[in-house]
Amino acid sequence: MIVVSEDQIRAVLDPQLAFDAVRNVFKSMESGAWNFPVVREALGYQDALYGFKSGFDPSSGALGLKSGGYWPNNSSVGIANHQSTIFLFDPDTGQCQAAMGGNVITALRTAAAAAVSIDILARPDVRILGLIGTGHQSPFQLEAALRVRDFTEVRIWNRSQRSLERHHQIAVQYGVKCREVTLEEAIVDSDTLITITSSFQSIVPENLVPDGCHVACMGTDTKGKQEVDPDLLLKASRFTDELVQSRTIGECQHIDANLHVSTLGAVLSGSASGRKTSSEITLFDGTGVGLQDLACAQAVVSAIDVNDPSQVQVSL
Ligand code: NAD
Repeated sequence: MIVVSEDQIRAVLDPQLAFDAVRNVFKSMESGAWNFPVVREALGYQDALYGFKSGFDPSSGALGLKSGGYWPNNSSVGIANHQSTIFLFDPDTGQCQAAMGGNVITALRTAAAAAVSIDILARPDVRILGLIGTGHQSPFQLEAALRVRDFTEVRIWNRSQRSLERHHQIAVQYGVKCREVTLEEAIVDSDTLITITSSFQSIVPENLVPDGCHVACMGTDTKGKQEVDPDLLLKASRFTDELVQSRTIGECQHIDANLHVSTLGAVLSGSASGRKTSSEITLFDGTGVGLQDLACAQAVVSAIDVNDPSQVQVSL
């Protein structure tokens, strides 16, 4: 098997490769690829959430798992709060093919999921992007969003003061205005809103979200977490990456489980409608599926040169 470091992944996985991998795997999930039940446990140690996401895509042969989670105290010692490792297995033999860093892949695949949702659900004429949350994941979300629509301005809110240096760099690169605003200002005029926080209570009130907005809720990936008012979920046309996850660990855990939610894969494969009117609110409940990780991991393995002497080959 090969061992692939975060640096090697960073060198080959860019937002476009991640976008294509995630878009394709969402579609595959409508035709035989499936995610296994998520294990996500509060350890009662370091306030950490730890677990596994895994799945199998027969069409690509991606089989494996991501192990890891969220350690909220990591940033105080200078490392990302999210920490994960990915393992790919040979679907014919079960032998491990690759052990890989999972942090860069998590960041890019999560941003790609929101970008796919914006690509297929946001109005074509969007201009103002609201971004709620400025943690590790936030600049990745910003860049991925700016790649799929011609935004002119991003308005950013965080509950506490944090550096926006990376956000400003990205804004300059994509030629958009970027400023820090109040929570209300980040929401009320937004054509697209991305939430990427670790909140356990609603921070986006339903009455502030304008008609026609597309909301990508990306922070809620665990039982008990919540970023948006359940009334917003009731009002919006609801979409998700994975139905069971949406109802158990996503935003839709906070509404009646019988209410209709469509997958992005169903929209991509034509079996569900996307946005129907320019005035409706569309909401993507992005919970993060194992197959996104595996699809990006496969893309990385395909892109690296296994004959490179720096490439570590290990036999178990
Ligand atoms: P981070 O720890 O670097 O940043 C956390 C952010 O949440 C900060 O902006 C912080 O100010 C904000 N926040 C925390 N509690 C809040 C509250 N009560 N109200 C408002 N804001 C609050 O984390 P990150 O790596 O940027 O990830 C953000 C969240 O996204 C995490 O909860 C993580 O679990 C989740 N996540 C989801 C996916 C997915 O696929 N859906 C993937 C990666 C991360």
